[in-house]
Amino acid sequence: MISQKQSNPDTHYSPYIWLGIFAHPDDETSASAGTMIKWVNLGNKAYVITGTGGELGSLGSDDLVISREELPTIRESELHRNLKMYGCYPPFMLRYKDQELIKENTGHLADKILSIMQYVNPDIVVTFGPSGISGHTDHIAIHKATLFAFRAYSRHSEEGTNLALLYPSIRADLANLYSLELSPEEMRMDIVIDIGPTIDKKITALRNYESQQDAQEFADRLSNLKTNENRKGNQEETFSVSEYTYGKWENIPVIQYLKNL
Ligand SMILES: [Zn+2]
Repeated sequence: MISQKQSNPDTHYSPYIWLGIFAHPDDETSASAGTMIKWVNLGNKAYVITGTGGELGSLGSDDLVISREELPTIRESELHRNLKMYGCYPPFMLRYKDQELIKENTGHLADKILSIMQYVNPDIVVTFGPSGISGHTDHIAIHKATLFAFRAYSRHSEEGTNLALLYPSIRADLANLYSLELSPEEMRMDIVIDIGPTIDKKITALRNYESQQDAQEFADRLSNLKTNENRKGNQEETFSVSEYTYGKWENIPVIQYLKNL
């Protein structure tokens, strides 16, 4: 059966559906906020799955000091607030604790992710690549479980031929600058999204993650980028297409649509 999505990639009467699958509140924003906002602004839908409450994150930034006990509740409310600002749906929380994901059976974690995939029917799935960018064990566990789930989902999905799995990617020179040990596929620039029009919202969202010092530092870096004329070209989010995407990805309608976002 040819679905409306496949037959009308340009006019796409049915909205395309994005599903980001990450470990902690704020991962989704660092990786893809600028792209999700553009996506939703064009009438598409976006969902996020978040693995943990980020219990082991920093306890505030600047003058804000919060307790370890209240941290997950605060981080979850920061996530809700930001997704609402983007026009995304409220997050699916898997309710693990920070650094627990690696201890979970991969198949069990994958089953939870798969049931959400079957519920939202994504066209684009975005998750960490093999290194998890930072090497965090929760990120790597989410990557592995999402691969399992994606393979099962694409085998049984009518949309298998218009379905893609993406990893956030980082240019090799920047990976070097920040001493990130990435896999080669996490340095591929298969899809480059200009986030010039949405970078202000991304910076606001990072600032909204007041509990997290890292998010504040990333907001500072993006703000500096914005004011430096020579680096305007770097206002982008980049992704590589996973080898688990079925078929020749350049020809997949939803990828062509995303590239023109
Ligand atoms: Zn994280």
